[in-house]
Amino acid sequence: RGGAQALADALRAYLEYLGGTVVTGVTVTDARDLPPARVTLVDSSPTVLLRILGDRAPARYRDTLEGYRYGTGIQKFDYALSGPMPWQDPRVARAATVHIGGYAPDIAAAEAAAQTRLHPRPYVLAAQHTLFDPSRAPAGRHTFWAYAHVPNGSDHDAQAQIEGQIDRFAPGWRDLILARTRTTATQLQAFSPVFHGGDVNGGRGDLPGLLARPVLTPTPYRTPVKGVYLCSSATPPGGGIHGMAGHHAALAALQDEFRLKVDG
Ligand SMILES: Cc1cc2nc3c(=O)[nH]c(=O)nc-3n(C[C@H](O)[C@H](O)[C@H](O)COP(=O)(O)OP(=O)(O)OC[C@H]3O[C@@H](n4cnc5c(N)ncnc54)[C@H](O)[C@@H]3O)c2cc1C
Repeated sequence: RGGAQALADALRAYLEYLGGTVVTGVTVTDARDLPPARVTLVDSSPTVLLRILGDRAPARYRDTLEGYRYGTGIQKFDYALSGPMPWQDPRVARAATVHIGGYAPDIAAAEAAAQTRLHPRPYVLAAQHTLFDPSRAPAGRHTFWAYAHVPNGSDHDAQAQIEGQIDRFAPGWRDLILARTRTTATQLQAFSPVFHGGDVNGGRGDLPGLLARPVLTPTPYRTPVKGVYLCSSATPPGGGIHGMAGHHAALAALQDEFRLKVDG
């Protein structure tokens, strides 16, 4: 209830209970933006990490991170609707998250194409929160969002393709649209530098991208600079709201900097 904001609020409340402080509205562009600390965990892209490390990053580490391969970006639409989505198959209304792609080969083709161009029938991920949490819209109104993968950094308008794909499974749904907001891959990066080129997964999900994330080592959370760790979705196990990248980075920091061995 309350959406993803409820998670952030809960985490913040717990940190403050432990005596921590959250500072927002500041973009960290180099190490001077940070207060002195024994340990710094960077929850951002390898590109941002390099800026923070500056000339403290050895040439080999810098070269590897400069060559880090990001994945496809996304283009996202947020909608206010005057009613619930008119899915042709009513069972779809029982799912909070809907993956719209047709058959498996259609999804594979659309995802492969998204590396370099917009596919006419993209694989669309959608969410319909208000069916499960009416507090998120005025009575009787609904929220809905949908996104599709687009080439990294692409600003090309994908509205026709994304909405056209949804039309196939919920004909007439556009008549319910009261308002829409489009967020392109570059706008997403401007919103948060962690989304490099609009990539919400912190790097490619292919085998090399999973193994060398962002470098091929058993503990890629460590950086060559003492006390600085990377803990974002650009480290194993990759993107997602599991929090495991931060967990593993924290274990490494506790072990290295505080000589505490904690079972992970
Ligand atoms: C539209 C969308 C849908 C998604 N759907 C799902 C889903 O269904 N399931 C799922 O598991 N995952 C999903 N994800 C991915 C998931 O949200 C991320 O992988 C996850 O939030 C990563 O957590 P994180 O803590 O590493 O980074 P974030 O949650 O992005 O937190 C990083 C924080 O650091 C801040 N930051 C970064 N760089 C700087 C800087 N230089 N200066 C100051 N602040 C900075 C950012 O602003 C942000 O607040 C989705 C993402 C998006 C955008």
